Order: sequence, then structure tokens, then C-alpha cells
Amino acid sequence: MTIKSNIKDLLTELKDTKAKLIAVSKTQPIEKIREAYDAGHRIFGENKAQEMATKFQALPKDIEWHMIGHLQTNKVKYIAPFVALIHSVDSMKLLEEIDKQGKKAGRIIPCLLQVHIAMEETKFGFDADEVLTLLSGTSLLQLKNIEVKGLMGMATFTEHEELIRKEFRSLKGLFDSLNVGKLPANVKMEELSMGMSSDYKIAVQEGSTYVRIGTAIFGERKHSTN
Ligand SMILES: *Cc1c(COP(=O)(O)O)cnc(C)c1O
Repeated sequence: MTIKSNIKDLLTELKDTKAKLIAVSKTQPIEKIREAYDAGHRIFGENKAQEMATKFQALPKDIEWHMIGHLQTNKVKYIAPFVALIHSVDSMKLLEEIDKQGKKAGRIIPCLLQVHIAMEETKFGFDADEVLTLLSGTSLLQLKNIEVKGLMGMATFTEHEELIRKEFRSLKGLFDSLNVGKLPANVKMEELSMGMSSDYKIAVQEGSTYVRIGTAIFGERKHSTN
């Protein structure tokens, strides 16, 4: 299987769904990303700010770069001028820094709020009630250089499909409930980022609008990062 045929197969599979494909290129060399680019793909996901900035410099400028990994506040500056969407916003402090760097870069930076849905303790993210509190207050409105466009979540890493489905369904439920209520002017619930190589089929069935897929496109990564 080649990168090109993997992308083509995934796009065919996603064709009649709401889900857009993010090719997760973390740890992959420029040549591999170039191969996906030459196959026509333009949406890539990275989980480290400096690695993303280096790849942005080296590759064509019509690529959409998505930040999907935990982002430290002191790294936001590396990606603020160009990042298309930050999926992994997990604190008010990080939102404030993204706003500050967005202002410096003269742009409004699209963000998703990462919600903790898995059983595992280690995953980053807001709890559902923290999201409700954040969105019902006025503090987000002060942040003129961010726009919240939806939610992101990661299911438990397990073979147990019904647990994964339940976790994705709970995130979709939160997403839908927020769409019913009144939201701050710079918040919209349009995008729901859920699903990776092992569980994207379930995520798509449960309403994902962005699947983040690495291994199923590029093969196994040499060094695992997280
Ligand atoms: C690495 C990563 C992915 C892609 O994982 P694969 O199993 O290689 O598809 C998706 N989302 C996040 C947040 C990741 O860090």
C-alpha cells in the first residue's frame, strides 16, 4: 500500500459522511508529506509546535496545518502566524495565550476545546461541566483573536468498541446540547474532531467532522511520541 492509495481509499470511505480527513504527519519526514501532497492532499496534523513550524517552512503554503497535540503556552508563538486549527485547547490559560499571539500575528485563530471523554487518567482536556461553565460566562468574549469552532475528544485506547462508541456519543451529545443554547459571539459548534486510525469508523458513525489519521496513511511511526 502506498500513501497515495491509502489516502484515496480513506477519502472514498468518507465521501458520503460529514468527516474531513486530517493526515497526521507527526514524526514523518518531509518526503512522506510531499508524497501525500502530490497525491492532492492538503490537510495535515502535527502534535509538536516546532516540528510543525519547520515543516510549514519547508512545504507549499497551501497546506492547512492542524495542531492536534498538547500545546504548551510557551510554544504557541511558533505556530500562531499560520496554524489552521488548534484542536487541543485544554485550559483558559492556553486560550489567553493563543489570543495574545493571534493579536500579534494580526489574525483570529480557530480553536477547538478538547474534552476529556476517556476512562484513562492521562488524557488532557476539559471535563464537560468545565466546558459548560466556560461557555456560559463572559470571559471568552474578551478574547478577540480566537474563535472556538467546536470540540475535540479522544476515546479510550481499547478493543472494546461499545466503550469507544459510548465515549464518542457522549461528546456528540455535549456538542448538540451546546448548539441548542446561547453561545458567546466568538463560539460556534460546527466542528467535532474525533477518530484516529483505530476508531475512526465508529467516530464517523457518531458524527465526527474531522478524523485524525496517521498510521492508516503513513504506516507505523518509528518513534512513538505523545
Ligand atoms: C497521533 C495522533 C493521532 C493519529 O493516530 P494514528 O493512530 O496514527 O491514526 C490522532 N490524534 C492525536 C491527538 C494524535 O496524537
